[in-house]
Amino acid sequence: MKVTVDCFRFVLKSATGKIQLSVGEHVQVMVKDEKGAVINSAPYTPVASSEDGTSLDLLFKVYPGGKVSSYLGAMEEGATVALTGPHGVYKHRSNF
Ligand SMILES: Cc1cc2nc3c(=O)[nH]c(=O)nc-3n(C[C@H](O)[C@H](O)[C@H](O)COP(=O)(O)OP(=O)(O)OC[C@H]3O[C@@H](n4cnc5c(N)ncnc54)[C@H](O)[C@@H]3O)c2cc1C
Repeated sequence: MKVTVDCFRFVLKSATGKIQLSVGEHVQVMVKDEKGAVINSAPYTPVASSEDGTSLDLLFKVYPGGKVSSYLGAMEEGATVALTGPHGVYKHRSNF
């Protein structure tokens, strides 16, 4: 879904099962060539996830010439993207 002229929100559904992240964690989006080799990657912090843990929402800005954001922005609905994660070193601790 296009949110602004250069910002998009995608729902990414897991092809393999659960895809759950904690506060402060991110995924690494991988751009692959036609042979499956990773040619670019960038981290993205999901803004939401489904209650059943099978999908997450990415909100991202497309930068002109951006290697990963332009790739994401040009994806068709239903396309597949490779992710790794969760990544991140910051841990959220409740103080309530
Ligand atoms: C932990 C983490 C989480 C992140 N989460 C998100 C997220 O949820 N959503 C999101 O949109 N981005 C997020 N980013 C930024 C994202 O990882 C990429 O850096 C961004 O999408 C640009 O990557 P690119 O490959 O398209 O651009 P590149 O090919 O790396 O850069 C191309 C050009 O784009 C411009 N550009 C790139 N990044 C910036 C910037 N930050 N500010 C201004 N100009 C820039 C510059 O002109 C640059 O020369 C996150 C970054 C980190 C470190």
